[in-house]
Amino acid sequence: MLKDVEGIVLRSMKYRETGRILKVFTKEYGILSVMAHGVEKKNSGLASRTEPFVFVRYDLNPGRNLYYLQGAEILSMNLPLRKSYSLLLILHRATRFLMHVLPEGEPQGKLYELYKEFLMVVQREKYPARIFYAFLLQVAEELGYRPMLHSCTSCGNRKIQAMTFSMQYGGILCERCRIKDVYSLNLSKEQYIEIYTFIHSTLTELTSAEKKENLTDVGEIIVKFIEHTFQIDMNNYAKK
Ligand SMILES: [Zn+2]
Repeated sequence: MLKDVEGIVLRSMKYRETGRILKVFTKEYGILSVMAHGVEKKNSGLASRTEPFVFVRYDLNPGRNLYYLQGAEILSMNLPLRKSYSLLLILHRATRFLMHVLPEGEPQGKLYELYKEFLMVVQREKYPARIFYAFLLQVAEELGYRPMLHSCTSCGNRKIQAMTFSMQYGGILCERCRIKDVYSLNLSKEQYIEIYTFIHSTLTELTSAEKKENLTDVGEIIVKFIEHTFQIDMNNYAKK
């Protein structure tokens, strides 16, 4: 039996009449599949403890293919996360992305803390999409896929007049090299700074950043970078 396992519910799916199958991101063991029997029974008291994005402490019995929920305690319901549809959409995209890139059963200490911070920050942020884009970049970074920003990824030129961002090269291209990737996208200085800031600030620091009026539309480039790097379709993701 694993006692007092701290975790965050990523997904909660109905199973037969009264059960649920959960994906739980645990602090110590990474993502685990958990069978929760009897959740939907009246008076089980378990329904709210198996909702997505809830911080929990579980007792888990290991089975052959998954774990069985024995006891559950709520650390935080994170109710503000459910306050708007657009926020929920962001959460689902972020969560599906994590489930796509992380194998089950492998401890992910740092990414667990990052995801937890993401959920806490995004619920009080006025522009949650910014936190989402920063989260994507920081997960990518942790997995070894940081976009190359300090010089042209093709020729190493550091004095760039007009740059583009290339998914194929995984970073910026200078005006001489942009022809090497016709699909590369124009990247303004403001967008460049925003990407740089997303990578080099903590999510908590980003909420207190002041220049929120100068939002750029850099999100599209970041999502394309993530899609290319991890071979996923981020837009269809919410529907799956
Ligand atoms: Zn170049």
